Amino acid sequence: MKEIVILSGKGGTGKTSITAAFATLADKPIVVDCDVDAADLHLVLEPDVKETHEFIGGKTARIDPDRCTWCGQCVEMCRFGAVSGADGEDSYFIDQMACEGCGVCAAFCPSHAITMEDTINGRWFVSQTRIGPMVYARLGAGGENSGKLVTLVRNEARSVAQSTGAKLILTDGPPGIGCPVIASLAGASRVVIVTEPTVSGIHDLQRVVKLAAHFRVPTSVIINKSDINPDQAAEIDAFASAHGISVLGRILYDPVVTAAQLVGKSVIEYSEGPVSSKLREIWDDLSQVTNEL
Ligand code: SF4
Ligand code: SF4
Repeated sequence: MKEIVILSGKGGTGKTSITAAFATLADKPIVVDCDVDAADLHLVLEPDVKETHEFIGGKTARIDPDRCTWCGQCVEMCRFGAVSGADGEDSYFIDQMACEGCGVCAAFCPSHAITMEDTINGRWFVSQTRIGPMVYARLGAGGENSGKLVTLVRNEARSVAQSTGAKLILTDGPPGIGCPVIASLAGASRVVIVTEPTVSGIHDLQRVVKLAAHFRVPTSVIINKSDINPDQAAEIDAFASAHGISVLGRILYDPVVTAAQLVGKSVIEYSEGPVSSKLREIWDDLSQVTNEL
């Protein structure tokens, strides 16, 4: 089983549109959306949710007012300022948003009045789309541990692939270069970085390339909207060449990509124009180099 992870370093480069196009072209893939903070692949693939699961992202402390003796030790022990209390209340109070779940207060409360409870930080879904199964998730507002949720979603996609005999997982990675991105690329067969010829695009490309190299994941690049700045597109070519990275292709700016998104289709499904032709070419090359791994 192979997994191709599509990354960009930042949002707005066309990463999700390109993932949706590849999903349409691939032979029975399992699709994964690892952008758990702002998943949007489902807007194009319109999944029919088959399973919904809660994501337990961590634990928070809770005080049993019937046991609390107002000794005040938990206030002093909490390094995150999460415990407070005032005259007239039944006991000290733990701010669930401020609690980091370290468990110190529960371990040392002399009255055993504090318990650590699971925190539901989001939900993850196994769904069916018109091109095959899709696994994705939504982190709750203010939820943490997005890296852990990304790992969970990827593992679940592998289970689905194993049970269905799918040979390919296509993963739409999260933006940035933080913990969720690391969780999305570690152990992948190949990373494809979708970049654009702008100063910030090149900067982000360099950061993701460094990250992928650290995890020894073979990397390729697609230059999207390459005609908006030919000089910087050439700079990307030079950077890729200097780092032994293949540029799979250049895609010219075309409003057809947005038009396809607006009607909930991949650009391959929506148009037979130059963007679709180029994406088909790129997909053929990408499939070939991935299968050779
Ligand atoms: S340490 Fe325990 S008993 Fe003391 S104030 Fe905190 S919860 Fe109450
Ligand atoms: S679990 Fe840790 S962070 Fe949460 S209230 Fe207790 S001491 Fe503070």
